[in-house]
Amino acid sequence: MATTRVIEIKTELPGPRSRELLAREAEAVASPLQVHLPIFAAQAEGATITDVDGNVFVDFAGGVGVMNVGHGNPRVVEAVLEQAARFIHTDFTVVPYPGYVELAERLSALVPISGGARAAFFNAGTEAVENAVKLARLYTKRSAVIAFEGGFHGRTMLSMTMTSKTHPYKTGMGPFAPEVYRAPFPSAYRGPTVSEALAQLERMFGQHVSPESVAAIVFEPQLGEGGFIPADPEFVRGLRRLCDTHGIVLVADEVQTGFGRTGRMFAMEHFDVEPDLITIAKSVAAGLPLSGVIGRRQIMDHPHAGAIGGTYIGNPVALAAALAVLDVFEEDAVLERATVVGAQIREQMLGWRDRYTQIGDVRGLGAMLAIELVHDRETKEPAPDLAGAVIDAALERGLILLKAGVYGNCIRVLCPLTISDPELDDALHAWDGALAAVLT
Ligand code: PLP
Repeated sequence: MATTRVIEIKTELPGPRSRELLAREAEAVASPLQVHLPIFAAQAEGATITDVDGNVFVDFAGGVGVMNVGHGNPRVVEAVLEQAARFIHTDFTVVPYPGYVELAERLSALVPISGGARAAFFNAGTEAVENAVKLARLYTKRSAVIAFEGGFHGRTMLSMTMTSKTHPYKTGMGPFAPEVYRAPFPSAYRGPTVSEALAQLERMFGQHVSPESVAAIVFEPQLGEGGFIPADPEFVRGLRRLCDTHGIVLVADEVQTGFGRTGRMFAMEHFDVEPDLITIAKSVAAGLPLSGVIGRRQIMDHPHAGAIGGTYIGNPVALAAALAVLDVFEEDAVLERATVVGAQIREQMLGWRDRYTQIGDVRGLGAMLAIELVHDRETKEPAPDLAGAVIDAALERGLILLKAGVYGNCIRVLCPLTISDPELDDALHAWDGALAAVLT
């Protein structure tokens, strides 16, 4: 492996300027906004973040899966500056602008939905999910929604209800939205099996909610916050079958899986199954707030005029960033790079699993990869303490890592897909060192 060429740790961590800012943050910022890493960003470029003390880290978090085309991508920065100089806001539903139409055209052509798609844009992922449910309800004239154990769909009332993890996302925040039902999500590592999960859905239809009351089944093609568990293709086909049988809208929440993370533009392309609606956010606009729902024309066009909207929906600057992101994907072969990067990281992870019994599982599609840490390979007792210690040890070595999983015992990869070879080598070297320090 290459010697360090990118990472530079010049101070103790946190450095003096970060320490000072942390003290001010503790006094000024509401404490539920839990800060995970004790470093303050000063600058970011490619796959690196430089903190206020001049330390340079490789970023495997990407602002939680937002920076697939890298920090400070020159085409994105140029597009943002150019648009901001022309105009920043009109509200598309008051005075429309061309970027909205162009992005809708380009994304509708890209999504794995045949027969013509239409798009609507919003700001955060949670808004996209809530609007997808609205659209499904209006189309089907039904109210119930089925979501899955381990699923994460956001933090506003309906999406928080659909989100499965209680701590920290839901505890004390009820009452929750009505008509949300939860089914198990199959996991090759911990179960249930695909047939058990599908059988449970059928049982739900008999005992909890009749299928003719269900507007939408909302699922992630690979669980994100829930621990990077890819959906089994047979399960996805089973969901499609159930939706077709009962007239239910199938919504693929691609907020985290989208924009090349799995080596395809949309993770649904791995399954040879078409969803009816796709929600997008995060990496669509390389860090500017933009989300959207793209879906079948008849569902998207069905509601009454004015049924969806919002002051900032599809902000022009965010749209300019998103159009530049699509250009970057085309011109820089980002999907090919994602596949190469994913294969390299997976190979390294499999080597770690051979070396350390505490690594119970390595999984994920493309570059959406995670390791799951356990105290015992037989019992699979989750080891969130070890995951936390590895993340701390990695930071000391200049690598920013992020947890995932309902037990908080997975470490996931959400690095820029455009990461350079030296950045990737450095990152894997730092991660390797952190594992050696904690697990042996
Ligand atoms: N859906 C999925 C699959 C997500 O991973 C997330 C965020 O992590 C959301 C929805 C919510 O997105 P946002 O945080 O932008 O509201």
